[in-house]
Amino acid sequence: MSHIVVLGAGLGGTIMAYEMRDKLRSDDRLSVVTLGTSYSFVPSNPWVAVGWRERDDVTVDLA
Ligand SMILES: Cc1cc2nc3c(=O)[nH]c(=O)nc-3n(C[C@H](O)[C@H](O)[C@H](O)COP(=O)(O)OP(=O)(O)OC[C@H]3O[C@@H](n4cnc5c(N)ncnc54)[C@H](O)[C@@H]3O)c2cc1C
Repeated sequence: MSHIVVLGAGLGGTIMAYEMRDKLRSDDRLSVVTLGTSYSFVPSNPWVAVGWRERDDVTVDLA
């Protein structure tokens, strides 16, 4: 049994958590520690700033 902890659900941590989840054995645990409960795709922030996307378009509810 392993308990894997991903620190920070940013671009690296979020992808790592989803990839890792697919590789877990039945008794393994995966925890993600981050600020808040959502992930924002940082490279798209300029699109939000200039009105090409809404904030919700580049945000995922991780919970
Ligand atoms: C405008 C812009 C455009 C970009 N465009 C590109 C691009 O086109 N291509 C490219 O390859 N890269 C691009 N980047 C860079 C890319 O976004 C970063 O390299 C990438 O986000 C880094 O990923 P990361 O997981 O290391 O950190 P982050 O994505 O910053 O994630 C860190 C996470 O840790 C959390 N965290 C921080 N401190 C704590 C704490 N004390 N406790 C709990 N959680 C914490 C944060 O909330 C965050 O969710 C761009 C960046 C910007 C700002």
